[in-house]
Amino acid sequence: MHSPGKIIFSEIDKVFNLQIQNKWNVRNTGFTERSENLDKIRHWILNNRQKIRDAVYKDFKKPFPETDLTEIFNTLAEIRTTKANLRKWMKPQKAAPTPSMLTTHGYVIYEPKGTVLIISPWNYPFLLAVEPLISAIAAGNTVIIKPSEISRNTSAVIKEMVDELFPPNEVCVFEGGKEIATYLLQKPFDHIFFTGSTTVGKIVLKAAAEHFTSVTLELGGKSPVIVDSSADLKDAAQKLVWGKFLNAGQTCQGPDYLLIDKRIKSELIELLKNFINKSYGKNPNEIKHSHDFARIINFNHIGRLIDYLEEAKKYGAKVEIGGEYDRETNYFSPTVLSGSFTGTKLMEEEIFGPILPVMTFENIDEAIEIIKRQPPPLAVYIFSNKNKTIETVKENTVSGSVVINDLVLQFSHYNLPFGGIKESGLGTAHGFYGFEAFSNRRTVLKHHKFSPIKLFYPPYNNGKQKLINLLIKFFR
Ligand code: NAD
Repeated sequence: MHSPGKIIFSEIDKVFNLQIQNKWNVRNTGFTERSENLDKIRHWILNNRQKIRDAVYKDFKKPFPETDLTEIFNTLAEIRTTKANLRKWMKPQKAAPTPSMLTTHGYVIYEPKGTVLIISPWNYPFLLAVEPLISAIAAGNTVIIKPSEISRNTSAVIKEMVDELFPPNEVCVFEGGKEIATYLLQKPFDHIFFTGSTTVGKIVLKAAAEHFTSVTLELGGKSPVIVDSSADLKDAAQKLVWGKFLNAGQTCQGPDYLLIDKRIKSELIELLKNFINKSYGKNPNEIKHSHDFARIINFNHIGRLIDYLEEAKKYGAKVEIGGEYDRETNYFSPTVLSGSFTGTKLMEEEIFGPILPVMTFENIDEAIEIIKRQPPPLAVYIFSNKNKTIETVKENTVSGSVVINDLVLQFSHYNLPFGGIKESGLGTAHGFYGFEAFSNRRTVLKHHKFSPIKLFYPPYNNGKQKLINLLIKFFR
């Protein structure tokens, strides 16, 4: 008798080999076939919208409108942008000749990487598996997806979709956890697109090095929000409540902690309270039973958040709003804390939940110093109406993106690259940048029989040396 593990491992071997054999066929597909494949996904999503909403709801009680907006709409928007531009992206991109290369004809072609692996997380479980799939198909690859074992209802729906739409030698899903991911990572894939934690990202990077496989790593981190005294506080508070408590705070580029000018602290906290009450309920009981607020994914994560909260309280943090939780139902209320938080897990780990620590500053340099103590995050958010403050923050911090007077939205702008830097990620995705991530940017240089470069070939006599000297003189 084989153990289930062995059966699935031999299935992985089989599918991987089938995809390797088939990758040359898929590579040679044109715009029409790739676009038709994207349409198949689009139709499936539209026909199975309720099934996707139900699955994500079963995973962490995500409200249907949030699933519509952040999982379904974003996926459809990625398909639309890709379809509208793919013909252009697939065309060779001409490179203007440099003065010494005037007689050449150079261009760049985007060729498929080949057989690629996508490993995705649980927090936007449909979007973060299917969005890279769209880019991978657009670029002409065969694809294996390993969705998260934690959001298992959504992973089952992703598998159902892929099984219905594609033969396994084109696209295939393997469900399962670390064991399956580790086995897949031993294969010599042509690209790995990983979305998940920084810790696992490092494991993926090491595994990829074994085969010189290129990677895109979409990781996490602590994205700060700065609000200065010139900001429109009502607007900032409304956006903060939406951006922080969307998906119950389990958003990679979501606001992690808040740095505000000391003079506006009490006003901003009051406004946050008002918008929480407006969005989720007038009192703790109404908020707890709100249908518009998701739950924490599982027992481990709710335990982690409770530890963060209780530790911060021990260090003297003040609970300004919320602070309620229920381990039985994975409920953690929208929570705002104030204090210094130095040395607490709230400032050492990615929070990834609905807790917003608020710290104050007297001048913008103090806020910048706090940001610089952390590894570069996915995003830095600034609410301000002073260009000088915005520029100072931009010039003195490092992150994957900078967003001014809004939050989170950079993810949904498909003409902008999305990604992190260092601990928050390597490479970018979305729209053209996603297509590029799954493509080999290949240089093509064409020349004629007549080549002025021949004038410089050996033997290197005096005349040639003079010519070389002239060349250097011209280019110095
Ligand atoms: P995770 O790293 O625990 O898991 C991600 C995937 O990796 C899952 O499919 C999991 O099965 C797999 N995995 C787990 N252990 C592994 C191992 N040892 N080897 C190989 N694969 C392994 O992340 P998560 O908890 O699912 O997701 C939350 C994290 O993802 C947060 O840090 C968040 O910031 C980040 N994230 C980043 C983005 C982004 O676009 N930058 C988007 C969403 C989430």
